[in-house]
Amino acid sequence: AGKGKIGIIGSGLIGQSWAMLFASARYNVIIYDINSELVNTAYEKIKSELKTMEKNGILRGNLTADQQIELIKGVTKLEEVVEDTILIQECIPEILSLKQQLYDQIDKIIGSQTIISSSTSTFLPSVLSEKMEHRNQLIVSHPVNPPYFVPLVEIVPSEWTEEWVIKKTRTIMEDIKQSPVTLAKEVPGFALNRIQYAILNECWHLVNDGVLNVKDVDTVMSEGLGMRYAFLGPLETAHLNAEGFVNYTERYSNSMYGVCQQFKPSPKFEGPLVKVIGDQLNSNTPLEDLPKRRLWRDQSLIKLSQLKKYN
Ligand code: NAD
Repeated sequence: AGKGKIGIIGSGLIGQSWAMLFASARYNVIIYDINSELVNTAYEKIKSELKTMEKNGILRGNLTADQQIELIKGVTKLEEVVEDTILIQECIPEILSLKQQLYDQIDKIIGSQTIISSSTSTFLPSVLSEKMEHRNQLIVSHPVNPPYFVPLVEIVPSEWTEEWVIKKTRTIMEDIKQSPVTLAKEVPGFALNRIQYAILNECWHLVNDGVLNVKDVDTVMSEGLGMRYAFLGPLETAHLNAEGFVNYTERYSNSMYGVCQQFKPSPKFEGPLVKVIGDQLNSNTPLEDLPKRRLWRDQSLIKLSQLKKYN
């Protein structure tokens, strides 16, 4: 017996990850996909992944792989994933009309106590839900790939998302041992992509201005800032780099402001530099090696997550 029903709509990469996360915390997981064959494929993939992770000692939660597998079930009708569900995690492709169509269908059959939580990386919850009758039950829970090893979830309510929806979504994310942050209001890019894009902006300019080549820009992050950022955020980093944050600003605010005033406006990320950066990246990591490199990235993330003791 599990803790109650969680629905997963869309059984691709992200849907599978969510299914494993919810099962690891003893929820009953129901998976639905518009293509019913894919539900079986996803189920088989989840089964073998959970077994492999158990063998490697990196399975999350207190249940065995078999016990977790027993909590997961595939269904072929939308009604079966929506009825009496605590939270529906929507994981269908990032196409606005597709998501809105699905929400329109859900809207007609959903009860007043079910949360609709979208995995969207880019759409604001108000845009997803504006036409819905149950729009106050929709919220964004944006995961980071691969969610099983990167725990951040950005919880983003719209102005009409009800308070109980915000609170309960967060409690559930904490219960499955992810690390949620709740945005007080929706902003484009949420928080992660705003920070990520600020970094990409400056990386672009450093290459464009001939200060560093592509490999060395990445080294600044992977061998420098990133070493700290895997454990500390930028604000606490500043706090530790002086006698507290207030002292940090006393020491560095002038020079920080001086540098920041030199920042150039956002590039459009187009034109000849795209090819220059692309070619340099390809010469270090050829396109045909991307799958291998992703595997290495995920294995490194597993080691990092063990270091940070998520398991
Ligand atoms: P995916 O293409 O791997 O999977 C999507 C699945 O949805 C497919 O199995 C498809 O058959 C199914 N589907 C399509 N229409 C459907 C419908 N109407 N009803 C039910 N199922 C339907 O996609 P993904 O990479 O898992 O991404 C899913 C969502 O998660 C997107 O919104 C994406 O932006 C978000 N997200 C992705 C990542 C990532 O790195 N892949 C990270 C964070 C968030």
